[in-house]
Amino acid sequence: MSNVLVTGGAGYIGSHACKALGLAGFTPVTFDNLVTGWRDAVKFGPFERGDLMDRSRLDEVFAEYKPVAVMHFAALSQVGESMSKPGIYWQNNVLGSLNLIEAAVAAHCTNFVFSSTCATYGDHDNVVLDEDSAQLPINAYGASKRAIEDMLRDFEAAHGLRHVIFRYFNVAGADPDGEVGEYHQPETHLIPLMLDAIDGKRDALTIFGTDYDTPDGTCIRDYVHVCDLVNAHVLGLKWLVDDRGSRVFNLGTGTGFSVREVVDHSQSVTNRQVPIKEGARRAGDCTKLVSGSSRAMSELGWQPERSTLQQMITDAWRWHQTGHYSR
Ligand code: UDP
Repeated sequence: MSNVLVTGGAGYIGSHACKALGLAGFTPVTFDNLVTGWRDAVKFGPFERGDLMDRSRLDEVFAEYKPVAVMHFAALSQVGESMSKPGIYWQNNVLGSLNLIEAAVAAHCTNFVFSSTCATYGDHDNVVLDEDSAQLPINAYGASKRAIEDMLRDFEAAHGLRHVIFRYFNVAGADPDGEVGEYHQPETHLIPLMLDAIDGKRDALTIFGTDYDTPDGTCIRDYVHVCDLVNAHVLGLKWLVDDRGSRVFNLGTGTGFSVREVVDHSQSVTNRQVPIKEGARRAGDCTKLVSGSSRAMSELGWQPERSTLQQMITDAWRWHQTGHYSR
């Protein structure tokens, strides 16, 4: 069986990717420092603890498993934190990725699937973003991911590193079998925070900004189910293995929902009230991020199956009530 090195395989998206890779006949080898990931989330293949800043540890793991590809999820990913602590984003995300890319090239592992973000686009007034939209990030998280995209292009030109870049919109939901799910400590994302507020684990959900230029004044995002998202990664991996060349794909549904609309859907799915406070804008937030994802559909054959807001909140709610990890 073919090994795939999955950095961040103990995290939310990485753990779902490991499950999808296993189902597709690959062996996912998780490489994770467990700073934000969970040992309990590594269920579908071997685990190698390590940090991307440790080049010799990376070399060891490449030598041991001889992966056919890398799927690179490990990153710091909080917009707000990236504005107050940009240094750790440039250090972990950019320098860590440089180490990983150099180790992959040295090991002749030249298929690379990269987890990027719609935050690389920045604020474009009320347009649907396609892969050719200008990348003008307004936060350090997006800037760090854009830098890694540039790095991949340079390493392709010099060393033949083939890459598929996925720019995610807002990832939500959980494995319907309940084997893995979203569990961050501390939590910063909208849907899990809302579920915490619904069942009394926190006092209220604070809406970050109600004066945006949107119909109800709150930010608009495009939510995609984590299972659909990772299925696209398996298609991206096959794309590379089939030698179809480097490519960038957005992953979203093309439909945007405001924060208030997500609140309304959560109330109807759970049949409970979300206690709400209206707060100030969060630094670094774009007004509206909605994906044009037709490229992934037409070229990769990607078809989202669980990405209605109702389904994502239903799956997240089930996981929220039953699942958690410990280190
Ligand atoms: N948001 C909010 N309150 C929270 C967390 C998030 O109003 O406690 C908003 C946030 O401003 C953004 C949207 O919900 O408009 C999604 O934020 P999240 O952090 O989940 O993902 P991001 O878009 O930053 O990747």
